[in-house]
Amino acid sequence: MSRPTAPAVLYTRDQIQATVRRLAGEITADYATKKPLVIGILKGSFMFMADLVRELDFPLEMDFVRVSSYGQARRSSGKITVVQGIRTPVKDRHVLVVEDIVDSGLSLRFVLDSLRRKKPASIEVCCLLDKPARRAVPVPVNYTGFETPDKFLVGYGLDWAEQYRNLPDICYLEEIPR
Ligand code: 5GP
Ligand code: MG
Repeated sequence: MSRPTAPAVLYTRDQIQATVRRLAGEITADYATKKPLVIGILKGSFMFMADLVRELDFPLEMDFVRVSSYGQARRSSGKITVVQGIRTPVKDRHVLVVEDIVDSGLSLRFVLDSLRRKKPASIEVCCLLDKPARRAVPVPVNYTGFETPDKFLVGYGLDWAEQYRNLPDICYLEEIPR
């Protein structure tokens, strides 16, 4: 498969760092005494999660879930499966879900529904990127990094066909092979 045209930068690493620090400040104000369980959704959130938790200077625990991705399709199929669940008990914990990007909202709704069944004390969401124009189902997002235009984003953990996750900036692809 040929790689699409070179990605164009949408948010630089400096803009990302400033945004991560702002989010960390908001989260600290709410969670500093709650020893939250911070749950990252793999794979896309790995870089954001790593940067975010290093800005959180209070006790917390971490775990990760992995849900099925788009594969090489551009749009969510709406059929989501848990590829790898979490082991950490969730009951009575203050859970903060960390997601890379909320598009249709289907993936996040699926994850939230399955976590709610485990009876956490509270559950909130921090997403780095939000495409509100594309929402198909309503999902509560408590902390948002950037509201983005409807472009296909790559870099800083986000992929196209498993490529580009290692880009330090958030970029977009002008043309995406479908
Ligand atoms: P949703 O279920 O909200 O439609 O999609 C959420 C998931 O789809 C995200 O966690 C992300 O993995 C993927 N996704 C949505 N939009 C984009 C995008 O612009 N670029 C990439 N690389 N992945 C996306
Ligand atoms: Mg994701």
